[in-house]
Amino acid sequence: MLTGCVPWPAEDAERYRRLGYWRGQALGDVLRGAVPGNEDRIALVSGREEWTFAAVDTVADRMAAGLRDLGLRPGDRVVVQLPNIPEFLTLSLALFRLGVLPVYALPAHRASEIEYLCQMSDAVAYVVPGRYRGFDFRKLAREVRERVRLEHVIVAGEPEEFLALSAIEAPARELPAPDSGDVAFFLLSGGTTGLPKLIPRTHDDYAYQLRATARGLGVGSESAYLAALPVAHNAALGCPGVLGTYLAGGLTVLAGGAAPDEAFGLIARHRVTLTTLMPPLVKLWLDAAPLFDVDVSGVLLQIGSAKLPLEVARRIRPELGCEVTHWFGMAEGLLTFTRPGEPDDVVFPSTGRPMCEHDEVKVVGSDGAPVAPGEIGELVTRGPYTIRGYYRAEDHNARTFTPEGWFHTGDLVRLTPAGDMVVEGRIKDVINRGGEKVSPAEVEDHLLAHPGVRDVSVVGVADEVLGEKSCAWVIAAAADDADADASQAAPTLAELRRFLLARGVAAFKLPDQVAFTKEFPHTRVGKVNKAELARLAAEQTSGVAAS
Ligand code: AMP
Repeated sequence: MLTGCVPWPAEDAERYRRLGYWRGQALGDVLRGAVPGNEDRIALVSGREEWTFAAVDTVADRMAAGLRDLGLRPGDRVVVQLPNIPEFLTLSLALFRLGVLPVYALPAHRASEIEYLCQMSDAVAYVVPGRYRGFDFRKLAREVRERVRLEHVIVAGEPEEFLALSAIEAPARELPAPDSGDVAFFLLSGGTTGLPKLIPRTHDDYAYQLRATARGLGVGSESAYLAALPVAHNAALGCPGVLGTYLAGGLTVLAGGAAPDEAFGLIARHRVTLTTLMPPLVKLWLDAAPLFDVDVSGVLLQIGSAKLPLEVARRIRPELGCEVTHWFGMAEGLLTFTRPGEPDDVVFPSTGRPMCEHDEVKVVGSDGAPVAPGEIGELVTRGPYTIRGYYRAEDHNARTFTPEGWFHTGDLVRLTPAGDMVVEGRIKDVINRGGEKVSPAEVEDHLLAHPGVRDVSVVGVADEVLGEKSCAWVIAAAADDADADASQAAPTLAELRRFLLARGVAAFKLPDQVAFTKEFPHTRVGKVNKAELARLAAEQTSGVAAS
């Protein structure tokens, strides 16, 4: 396995193979298997473009050969920052076939995150979309290149001084297949200790995830998956997402976003059967549905990534007529979900059962021992598609994984008597902003560089739409004067947000509100009491003055 990754112990790997989870299947083949007999069927729709199975397969092969000629070698890393465009898929398949490892950045990432990802992964190349939705990614690439050594910047669009992805092609040829036990690509963790950790997913483990999620949701060759979330997210990439749909021989429809006008139109036009949404988008769809003359009842709605409010959940079946599956998932592996057809009282309060009968799940107390049945505790897990360690993160791994390979998720859950999991909260310091994860530590590090900020603590505050939003509690640099108000001469929210943007921080990480204090409350062990700060911020939001 790639140096810097933690392999499964040999006996577990052997067991997962024996049980048929790991089948030696390389991800570059996920679409290949569906091609014979389907050459002329449409595999991919994006705007006005329609691609047949044969076309996607051929372009991926030619691109793989071209990338090899460019000098990319098996095991190399490439930071891929592409939105939902066909090149995301052709490039991913090409890289998988070549054994080169994509590091999937989100389209929202900016210089700060991209530089880190390039450095952390020692990337040889960075792939961007040109101009997309008003943002010039070539400009970002120039900025990144000033500080990071990259052999190639490749543009899926007008390349300017860089390489055009469309020009990277060569006659298809046989390339040595990568070892299916090795890493195929990297996803990003939500990140609890500053910048995101890299999550190495292997061909074997992810191919299993694709097969099992497709089977679990009944995805087959008649299915049409609408990718409304960014495909760089695990949810839309492989649960079963675009890759699982290909494996099953179905159609993938790429959307620029989940806005109802675009998504409803695509659902009607392409007879979409499955899509993935985060909870805030579900509410948007419910509120917009009466304005559109569209029947979405044939769609299975896969909802997860953040808490789904019960009052929203209960409206789905009556108002949209959709079948629902409620998910708990993480890029690190473990997936739990309710199965289509289960009644509301199972689907909405819980996120169902683990995907695999060999997913091992324990709910433990702070001493690491299992809590009594039905009690709340931390979810710890291991299994055939859950990583045993982050990439190049020895210290963090020592804290997050036990020597026996159990992953401490930082999520607080309980199990119902039927074995369904209910998410109750978390102990990790992450803000779940409508499904997008924000690491307070990362934002705090940036804000501390502001001359007007002496100290800062970023906390989550409940929000009706997003579930949670972020509040930066600031001790202003000028806060020493005993008579002064805590907010006097302090930077405003707008200033802090501009400051973060200028430092190249993704927009979804910017604080939604700011509050000032002269001193942080502390816990008995002397840590900043974030729970108390969150409570005070919530009071401020609801108009109650903080004491
Ligand atoms: P990510 O790897 O970005 O998908 O984030 C995984 C994290 O999202 C989990 O560890 C949970 O904290 C959170 N999460 C995922 N699904 C749910 C859900 N259904 N309800 C509440 N939190 C969730």
